[in-house]
Amino acid sequence: MRNRMIAGNWKMNKTYDEGVVLAQGLVDELKDGTGSVDVVVCPPAIDVKGVAEVIQQANAPIAVGVQNVYWEEKGAYTGETAPDMITTVGATYCIIGHSERRGYFGETDEDINKKAKALMAHGIVPISCCGESLEVREAGKHVEFVVEQIKKDTEGLTIDDPSKYVVAYEPIWAIGTGKTATADDAEEVCGAIRKTLAQIFGQETADGIRILYGGSAKPENVGGFLEKEDVDGALVGGASLKADSFAAMVRSA
Ligand code: PGA
Repeated sequence: MRNRMIAGNWKMNKTYDEGVVLAQGLVDELKDGTGSVDVVVCPPAIDVKGVAEVIQQANAPIAVGVQNVYWEEKGAYTGETAPDMITTVGATYCIIGHSERRGYFGETDEDINKKAKALMAHGIVPISCCGESLEVREAGKHVEFVVEQIKKDTEGLTIDDPSKYVVAYEPIWAIGTGKTATADDAEEVCGAIRKTLAQIFGQETADGIRILYGGSAKPENVGGFLEKEDVDGALVGGASLKADSFAAMVRSA
């Protein structure tokens, strides 16, 4: 009942021109369609319009997202982007709560919760990230840590359509390090996430929410994650920066 999803997080990579070239590469790679796999690319905000135009012109089955949002409608918030601004450049997804935003920019679960509500009020799909540090994992507290994040990040949310809310489990120690969690590690936490979502929103809603794995996911290992019951796709950083490797991941999903 859940379509798989492969989402690319370009992070702070690709100038406008490079982003347009990568988008064109993806359109070419995926010209035969993506089957039932939902494909999303999240370029830097400044690239979004150009990337969205390339995809629209080709009528390609690729959605576009951004990597951050602010929850206010507009006003004196220098450097921020409002939900409304995201939709007007053709983006329909937004990554929130990435560990780099939490770690480098001090984002809290309360912030992430406000962002999710603001996005959903505008019909934008949040890809809400969670995940533990190496320290927490080594202390054996990873499951309870992530469950706590999920509870805070979803507090007071209403999810009418479970396909419009996505969770990404990204253990921090596996991001950009080349060190992947095993498929069993991912399933342990993704299963706990789904159970928590079921307690909050009911089983039916929880069964419709996609839970992605992220952290050094690449064409060679994505298949193993996707075999797991509660892993519905991947949020891909490094391997999303090359059209052929990202497309290979879409094909194997
Ligand atoms: P990575 O990044 O695939 O380069 O590890 C994943 C992410 O941070 O979303």
